[in-house]
Amino acid sequence: MDEERAVAEAEVAADAGAIAEALNAWYRTAARPLPWRDPEVTPWAILVSEFMLQQTQVDRVLPRWIAWMERWPTPAALATEEPGEAVRAWDRLGYPRRALWLHRAAVEITEQHGGRVPEDVDALLALTGIGPYTARAVAAFAYGARHPVVDTNTRRVIARLVHGHAAAGMPAPQDLVDMERLLPESDDAAALFNAAAMELGAVVCTARVPRCAECPVAAWCEWRGAGYPDNAPEKRPKQAKFAGSDRQVRGRIMAQLRSSAEPITREATLNAAAEGGTRDPEQALRAYDSLIADGLVVEFEGRVRLP
Ligand code: SF4
Repeated sequence: MDEERAVAEAEVAADAGAIAEALNAWYRTAARPLPWRDPEVTPWAILVSEFMLQQTQVDRVLPRWIAWMERWPTPAALATEEPGEAVRAWDRLGYPRRALWLHRAAVEITEQHGGRVPEDVDALLALTGIGPYTARAVAAFAYGARHPVVDTNTRRVIARLVHGHAAAGMPAPQDLVDMERLLPESDDAAALFNAAAMELGAVVCTARVPRCAECPVAAWCEWRGAGYPDNAPEKRPKQAKFAGSDRQVRGRIMAQLRSSAEPITREATLNAAAEGGTRDPEQALRAYDSLIADGLVVEFEGRVRLP
């Protein structure tokens, strides 16, 4: 890091208190009224939202989250169901292993924590499907604990605001250090700041066209101050195209099983996966086997069903 950059970053860190105040004030009036942000919402409802939001956009998550919470308002309610019901209710949110993990986590919470979502980050990390991000997010948003919570949107905000970069680099432990430096001291203000930074990245400091005229922290933004240099760090390799991918074929199999109340034959499943033989049968078989290996599909007496 050159000296000039180090000085600029130190200046932003020195202004952390004022930045947090401005961002939190903005969030109190501008945040989208998403139901999992309601102060009355339960830790379970927040945990479910975090599972769903991991790889899926808010507008697609909203109806599924509402339906999920109506049907399974507690971990114990979900734990009494077959895992396949969770997979069915996951519908088309994508990456359906998350539904299986969420079901397993509900069973673990019910059996090991008396049905109460644990507060402690280590206890949260011990649950199926919960990684460092989700554990900290639940501890912060459900229980108001002071932890840095850094998602993709926050990383972009920090990259621009603090480091003067057009975009964030690859995720790194330094992300948490950066966020910790900006985090206010009190638990409440810190939890709010975590949510506010994410929201800023989601609706104002967006990847393509940041709306700096509406930004509450524009006065401190290093990237803006430097005249928006084209200095994004090297990008990660692009995700393979969905069309024609094994993921798409897996999606076809899952859609067929979700819509079928009864188990169906293996042949019919593979035929649908290969779209009646118009697609690569080897790919259909590969996708099918991978779903079996993931536990998302179960073979039973020559028929196939959700777990
Ligand atoms: Fe992002 Fe613009 Fe705000 Fe900087 S001023 S943090 S680039 S929205």
